[in-house]
Amino acid sequence: MTGRIHASPEGGVNDRNAQRHRDVVSHDVPAEPLPLGPPGARCRFCGTELQHSFLDLGMSPLCQTHIEPHQLNLVEAFYPLHVWVCHGCFLVQLEEYVHPADVFTEYAYFSSYASTWLDHARLYADSVIRRFGLGDHSLVMEVGSNDGYLLQHFVRAGIPCLGIEPAANVAAEAIKRGVPTSVEFFGEDTAHEIARRSGKADLLVGNNVLAQQPHINDFVKGMKHALKFDGVITMEFPHLQRLIEGVQFDTIYHEHFSYFSFTTVERIFRHHGLVLFDVEELSTHGGSIRIYGRHVENALHPVSERVAQLRTREHTMGLDRIEGYLGFQGRVNEVKRQLLDLLIACKRADKRIVGYGAPGKAATLLNYCGIRTDFLDFTVDRNPHKQGRFTPGTHIPIVHPDRIREARPDFVLVLPWNLADEITTQLQFIRGWGGKFIIPIPHPVVA
Ligand SMILES: [Zn+2]
Repeated sequence: MTGRIHASPEGGVNDRNAQRHRDVVSHDVPAEPLPLGPPGARCRFCGTELQHSFLDLGMSPLCQTHIEPHQLNLVEAFYPLHVWVCHGCFLVQLEEYVHPADVFTEYAYFSSYASTWLDHARLYADSVIRRFGLGDHSLVMEVGSNDGYLLQHFVRAGIPCLGIEPAANVAAEAIKRGVPTSVEFFGEDTAHEIARRSGKADLLVGNNVLAQQPHINDFVKGMKHALKFDGVITMEFPHLQRLIEGVQFDTIYHEHFSYFSFTTVERIFRHHGLVLFDVEELSTHGGSIRIYGRHVENALHPVSERVAQLRTREHTMGLDRIEGYLGFQGRVNEVKRQLLDLLIACKRADKRIVGYGAPGKAATLLNYCGIRTDFLDFTVDRNPHKQGRFTPGTHIPIVHPDRIREARPDFVLVLPWNLADEITTQLQFIRGWGGKFIIPIPHPVVA
């Protein structure tokens, strides 16, 4: 049974609590004008001075710095996790607190450990090969190609490929599986160099990389240079509309410098001579969009009706006005209080709780909510590179998934809630001892 829970692990709804939650929400709307932005901070796209806070999550460690046992007694770096919205172009953004070279060169995320994501990659490859008639005469380039989980499908179809991946350890995995991969950061200069060395791309792919670019203008300029005259760009990234609607505050972390509406991303691409001619909405990462771009000079692909429809929907939501962005903080604070209410009630009832997963979003959620081993005995992850380590900042042990069968917990907190269907299906066996799942986002529920 799935239902909204207010502070009772048995599933009862406490009306007084519910009323209090509503009151608190209304009191969270700041009565004073919003604080001015950090001194001198300017929008990374249009250069306007940042003045409007979107969400302040306090201080947080880097989400992929899983702690090794020998580091447990050492000092740990925390950085502000404060997101601003530009009133000039409505780009939602973090300042660059950390240099990308410190984050991405030993990145622990291996795409191939998430099976939903692997199916998604295969379906995408089949669809673009057909739609754009790709073959052995084409070149497919992917920026942020990770361990080659996507390009392997083009390699198998006999289509020449080139992956560009800054994390050397991850790129090495791609090369092992036969995907040619160049270890470097992508930008205007690298794009020129790659075009000279390998030619320009018929299909230029970038999945979940746009948000990670501190120098977004340099990056999109690079895309323009690396693309053949009649080539097509596709990029996927989490959709800001879904982040706001679904209170997905834990998809915010230091590695994600920007959060995009379609309206703002279209503006950025247009500025660099690229037209977005189609867009699809996807369920990945809690709700993403896939944009299709081409050179403005190439009229081969007419702009689809879906582009205008999405633009209209975002206008209706207020994503092209500053008012559409204010008030998010209060909704996020309320999710934190509800989750803590629920976890506290579980512990008071002497229940055992463990976590499932140690994704990047877990670091934000656990740190912001202050959830440590006082609530979760441990969390599990299928990625062997994370097992034996501890979650950043909160130091919850990460162990092999088999430990759930041994520990027989009363509750499993599903941290990668975007994969909740897949995970609750895999873990159906916990029902055998009366175990239940807690899904934290968009509102904590027991399932
Ligand atoms: Zn701006």
